Amino acid sequence: QSDIHRIAFFSTATNVSLDNRASPPKLCNLIGGKLVDSRSDVFIDVINPATQEVVSQVPLTTSDEFKAAVNAAKHAFPSWKNTPVTSRQRIMFKLQELIRRDMDKLALNITTEQGKTLRDAQGDVFRGLEVVEHACGMATLQTGEFVQNVSNGIDTYSIREPLGVCAGICPFNFPAMIPLWMFPMAATCGNTFVLKPSEKDPGASMMLAELAMEAGLPDGVLNIVHGTNDVVNHICDDEDIKAISFVGSNTAGMHIYARAAAKGKRVQSNMGAKNHAVVMPDANIDATLNSLVAAGFGAAGQRCMALSTVVFIGDLKPWEEGLRERAEQLKVNAGTEPGTDLGPVISKQAKERICRLITSGVESGARLVLDGRKFEVPNYKNGNFVGPTILSDVMSDMECYKEEIFGPVLLCMQAESLDAAIKLVNNNKYGNGTSIFTTSGAAARKFQAEIEAGQVGINVPIPVPLPFFSFTGNKASFAGDLNFYGKAGVQFYTQVKTVTSQWKDLPSQGVSLAFPTSQ
Ligand code: NAD
Repeated sequence: QSDIHRIAFFSTATNVSLDNRASPPKLCNLIGGKLVDSRSDVFIDVINPATQEVVSQVPLTTSDEFKAAVNAAKHAFPSWKNTPVTSRQRIMFKLQELIRRDMDKLALNITTEQGKTLRDAQGDVFRGLEVVEHACGMATLQTGEFVQNVSNGIDTYSIREPLGVCAGICPFNFPAMIPLWMFPMAATCGNTFVLKPSEKDPGASMMLAELAMEAGLPDGVLNIVHGTNDVVNHICDDEDIKAISFVGSNTAGMHIYARAAAKGKRVQSNMGAKNHAVVMPDANIDATLNSLVAAGFGAAGQRCMALSTVVFIGDLKPWEEGLRERAEQLKVNAGTEPGTDLGPVISKQAKERICRLITSGVESGARLVLDGRKFEVPNYKNGNFVGPTILSDVMSDMECYKEEIFGPVLLCMQAESLDAAIKLVNNNKYGNGTSIFTTSGAAARKFQAEIEAGQVGINVPIPVPLPFFSFTGNKASFAGDLNFYGKAGVQFYTQVKTVTSQWKDLPSQGVSLAFPTSQ
């Protein structure tokens, strides 16, 4: 175990020694710049998925504690809103420097709580860091519009203003990147924030909040409350929260979207996925196979942009052997072990669910090309490991196809033409990402034009856009209309005020009750 778990964000009321397994450290909430012990009597274990050791415990925050966090954010808002955007940006410049400084610590925390490999955990931090870098240009991103002399002596201009208190609700699979999609953009726009990390791996959020405070973020601008459904429902219902950013499953996302919208809040909700790769017969064989294996099994398939289904145009058999050979060579082990390609899945329940969906695929007629269900890692017998699994001859009515598996399972399908493959992808309810592998520009162009998914890769396996664009899932993968980060992210965290001003010498024209028209 590492020293990172001994740092300050644990409750002082507990024995902070991880050697004493009987009393794992309890996480604090962050309220108004102070780490506050929760008075909750219910705590849930954060479990290392490779070992089952209890890393820490998170409180189910009480409603009073939640309200205290919202009040702290509300109290901090007026002066933060009036802090010059250049000063807010400077804090982000400092934050990105501190994240780089602590990259290894953050990655180790992620691997310990979430399971992914250290290298992948660094990628998790890095893709979030890029959003912090993006927020450093907020003055330019937030510029308004001006039209001079819309009428005689009258000018009109628009200003983007922050909303007030915003909130973020995070999933387990990117413990650093997703909080960093949220609070840096929201705060640099001038909002204050209440963050609810995933209860499965909250450590990275706490470390990032500490870094934000070290960078100079004033007390109350970023608050953290822990918990599960109850605290999420409080966030949806609270009158003082103006907007919610959510990333996670469809069950939670649609509930939050409906409940918060009924209270008049803005919501951006990024949800589940079933991402297809479409492989044309002319695709570069080696590069395509390498991409498919990396995008299917990376992070043990627990990425919302994982390519979990491959549709081969024509005969899939020539590809199948190449996929199996590569997948068999992947090293499954604890994420902290050198050379590991994929770590454990997040929980015992997740492993059971993944194995159940593989079994249901076999029972409904899919061919098991590679079976990872009984995978054991010698030094980590208790880990939630699932080895790379390939199911072939999968049909679209099978449960394993219809459900998001979110594990290291690659489904192989066949389509007789590009048109048939496009139809198959478009019939799927999700629309997060998709990729085509081909050497034909015409096929790629047709695919890009006709495919109904929000993020399209052309010979690129995981086309997650960099922060100067936005993360643009569609169909059942997204609810809302303003996406995360990029221009849309700024629009989400701001509202437009339009000002019409008249500065001219005013000769008396008498009283006119007619509706003003431009002169
Ligand atoms: P999850 O929905 O179980 O949890 C996400 C958050 O919602 C957590 O903070 C959790 O406490 C809360 N929550 C869960 N159930 C709730 C309920 N019934 N009521 C209120 N709150 C609830 O998701 P997860 O398992 O942590 O994450 C995996 C999912 O997230 C996958 O479906 C994946 O595709 C999706 N995801 C999507 C994106 C994207 O950008 N589209 C990115 C990452 C993950």
